[in-house]
This record gives sequence, C-alpha cells and structure tokens, in this order.
Amino acid sequence: MRVPVILTPILATGAVSRSVSFLGQTPIGDQHQISNGNTLTSIDAPGDDVCPLPPKVAPPNDGLHSSLDFIQDASYRSKQVERLSRVVQVPSTSTELEDDPWSDYYAPFLDLHDELTKLFPLVHSYAKVEKVNRFGLAYTFNGTNSALKPALFMAHQDVVPIDDPNDWTYPPFSGHYDGQWLWGRGSSDCKNTLIGVLSAVEDLLKQGWAPTRTLVLSFGYDEESKGWKGAGCLAEHLEKRYGKDSFEFIIDEGGMGIQTIGDKIYAMAGVGEKGALDIHISLSIDGGHSSIPPPHTGIGIISEIIYHLEREQLFTPKLDLSHPSRQGLTCQAKHSADFVEPWLWPALESSDYTGLAEALAASRGDRVRFLYQTSQAADLINGGVKINALPEKINATVNYRVAIHENTDIVRARAINIITPIAKAHGLTFSAFGAGDKPQPNNHLDISDYALPLEPAPISPTSPSDAVWTRMSGVTRQFFESLPESGNKTVLVVGDVMTGNTDTRFYWNLTRNIWRFSPIRPDGTKNIHTVDERIDMAVHLEGLAFYYELIRAFDTYED
Ligand SMILES: [Zn+2]
Repeated sequence: MRVPVILTPILATGAVSRSVSFLGQTPIGDQHQISNGNTLTSIDAPGDDVCPLPPKVAPPNDGLHSSLDFIQDASYRSKQVERLSRVVQVPSTSTELEDDPWSDYYAPFLDLHDELTKLFPLVHSYAKVEKVNRFGLAYTFNGTNSALKPALFMAHQDVVPIDDPNDWTYPPFSGHYDGQWLWGRGSSDCKNTLIGVLSAVEDLLKQGWAPTRTLVLSFGYDEESKGWKGAGCLAEHLEKRYGKDSFEFIIDEGGMGIQTIGDKIYAMAGVGEKGALDIHISLSIDGGHSSIPPPHTGIGIISEIIYHLEREQLFTPKLDLSHPSRQGLTCQAKHSADFVEPWLWPALESSDYTGLAEALAASRGDRVRFLYQTSQAADLINGGVKINALPEKINATVNYRVAIHENTDIVRARAINIITPIAKAHGLTFSAFGAGDKPQPNNHLDISDYALPLEPAPISPTSPSDAVWTRMSGVTRQFFESLPESGNKTVLVVGDVMTGNTDTRFYWNLTRNIWRFSPIRPDGTKNIHTVDERIDMAVHLEGLAFYYELIRAFDTYED
C-alpha cells in the first residue's frame, strides 16, 4: 500500500504572500493573535538548534563500486528493465476472499518464486530461503558479527487485482517498457521495491561482499488484503527466532517519498501509522408489505444513523508536540521559509495544537488534514430484497482511520453515544461491542468490530540524538545529494505518519526503528492501484542504489 500525500499547496513560486494568515488573523507588528486569544510572543525565525542537518555518511571504504553506477551505467538499466518486467508479468494478485494459500487462486505465486530464483541466482545460493505459510519469503544472510542486530528489508509480492484490462494503454501484466516508463500492475506498488532490494543484494554478492551484520529480507504476499497470511506469519516467524526488539531497523515501502519544496528536498519516512477500525452496524427489524409501512423502514433507520455519525461529535485534528509531522513542518519553517505559509513558524510555537492543524488543513487540503485527524467513511451498506417488501436485515460498515492522539476505544465510545438515542427513539434493543441489551432476533440493533482493530502504531524515534535515525538520515542525505537530478539541493530527512498501513503493522515488536520509506520522487510513479500503473525506470534505479547504500552503511556500523 502507498497512500501518497503530495505537498503541493505550499506557495510554489517562492513568492511569499503576506496576505496569508494563521486562522484568518494577519500578523500585526511582531505579534500574532490566534483563535484562543493567546498572543504569540516569538515570531522570530527558527534558531540554529531547530532542525539541524545530520552529518552526511560517506560510503564505506569497502572496495565496492559506487551506487551511482546503477544510475549512470546503461547496462544496469537494461538489466533492471528485464528483471522488473518479468516479475510484473506474473499476475500475483491477492484477495480477502480467498484465505487458503493452498487454493488455486495463489498458484501465480509459484511462478513468481520461479522467476525470482532465475533472476537472482546468487541471492538464492547464498541466502537461507524459507517459505512461511506457503508463499511468505524470508531470506537470511548471516553476518559474521552476531553482536550486531540484524537489518530487515521488507516488500510485498502481491498486487491489487485489475478491473477491465481493456482500460489499460498496455495490457496490465505485459511489463511493457517504453524507453522511460515500465508499465503494469505492481510496477510501482511494490514489485519495484521487491526487485530493487533483491537486485542490490545480488549485486553486492556478485562483488564478493559477505555481510558483517545479518541481513534479513521479508516479503509478504497479501499486503493488499490486510497481510495476515504473509507478513502476519513472517513477523511471528522472525520474532520466534530473534525475539523482541531484536532488529537494528526495518525499512518497508510507504511514506511520502521524496518531495521538493523550493530549493530543498525532503525525504519523508513514515515513522508512525494511524490505527484502523471498521464498525459494523446491523439491524434486524419486522418486515411486511411495503404498502403498509412504518414511518421509518430499517433502511431509513440505518440512514439516520449514518446521517448523525457524519454530523455529530466530529473528530478534531491535533498536531501536538508528540506528532511526527511537526518535525517536517519545523524543518520547512526553518529551511524553506520562503516557500511555506508565513504563519507556519509562529503557529508551530503556539500551544493551540488544534488551531495549527486546522490552519494547515485549510491551507494544504484534506489529504493533510487526515494526517492529524481521525477519518470516518461509511463504505458498505446493504438491505432490502424486493420493492414491495419491507427490509428485514440491514447492514452498514463504517471505516475509521484513527489519529495518533486517539485510539479505537474513543471511536467506539463515540459511536455508542451517537447511536444509543436513535435506537431508543425507534424502540429497538441495542447491543454494542458485546455489551448492552441481549441480542434479539427482531427489532434489535447491534454494532460491532468488523475486522480486527488496529491501534495507532508506536512512533519510531526521529530525534537528532538517536544514533540509528541519524545514521539513516545521513546516508539518505549523502545519497540523494549525490544524484545529478537533485541539482545541488540540500536534502532533509524527516519523519511523518501514514494515513494507511503497510505490512509493518505486524512487525512492531521487532524494533523501535521502523521506516516506511519508498525512496521515490513524486513524479516517478503513476496510478498506483488503478489503470496504467507505471514507474519511471530512472526512479527505480535510484531506489535500488539507495538500498545498496543503506545495506553498506549499516553493515559494520555499531551504535
Ligand atoms: Zn504496497
């Protein structure tokens, strides 16, 4: 899964509009008024201690070739086109509808594993390769220094099914290459990551590299369908072998990639994820002939519930001091001041955390809002079987993505608060999450968790005093600043939260350092999860080169 958030609403031209204000209040002199009446006393520019740049980490003196070779040497490009195309040609889709990995549905994964074995012969001869729950793949390259915690690279093998292949410019599983873009389902989500990581390791092995730090690759096969069969079992397998907090770091797809703001480049790693909860609303009610209806049919009552859920006790956004997005915003205020809202720095200094989040949402749009706020979407509804019969069983399911300042219990309690008076008004018995009235066969309303809930993820450290984060930042900065495409821009590495979830949701116990980071420029991939998905091969090669650098930079490093 990738849920890209493009930071385009910022003043793109560099012209600072002084008419932009925080919560509608134009700065007066050297003070700002904000909504709660507080006066901000500090609107000076951020000090030297704000968002310090991490020291660059130069590639180690290990005698291996430069990562820039991947980008500059044409033979690497043609090899990667071949590898990625062949893997995209395998239609390894996943679905929630088929739970059994031994069913025919999953047969394409046999072909995928065959392809991987052929494409990466050194990986498959040097690694211990384990298949977990049939198609989960765990590769282990044992290091010589067992005192170093292993590093873990993740990706998923499955792709989203396609709808109508005729809608595609090139057939979705053709892996067509047009000289710049490689087209096809999975080309950017996320077979590019899968192939990028495997290619980096294959290339290292070809040069005679042997790991000092143990390296583990873990590839699930149903990330697009919640991940229980693949990542769920792989995480269990790894925790059993290595124990809790046993990995130096985990890197997976995700995050907001590489974004340019003015003359700076921001590498945005997801260091947290929102939680997820689906609430199922189920009503059983008397039927009958529709010529003699009650004032409200079951469909009317369910509609009333959704109407009120969408209007009452609305969730508020919050950007308090613990929110990872503050880091990126603070860095923008410091290093990209001419390209962002002029009120950003004073607003960050205010204690009006909701005002700040609201102002940013107003300025940058709803995609940004839902980094700070719990979302609610009524996504499923059904009821009724015939136009002359009153509906007897009516169901709806509402999806929530839980903000990091809240939790699933808060969301459940709110639903109970809003729905209880509606049930009462219609004379229904009401049970909620296993409590309340005893379920009745008729005239009963029940709400329950629809799937297993997920709390917001623990936040991975991003402090400049954290050695592992600082080293990863230094490697990322060094690598992206070395690319000709970066045009000598400074690269800042910042943490952020994701509104969706990746397979890392199963891996929380393994390390505190989890980075959901696809090293991809925003214009480098197109149409994830829809028709004409494709990736710019230049961007794929940059990702490969980045993994190559990251493995080397941590191989002998001791924090
Ligand atoms: Zn994905």
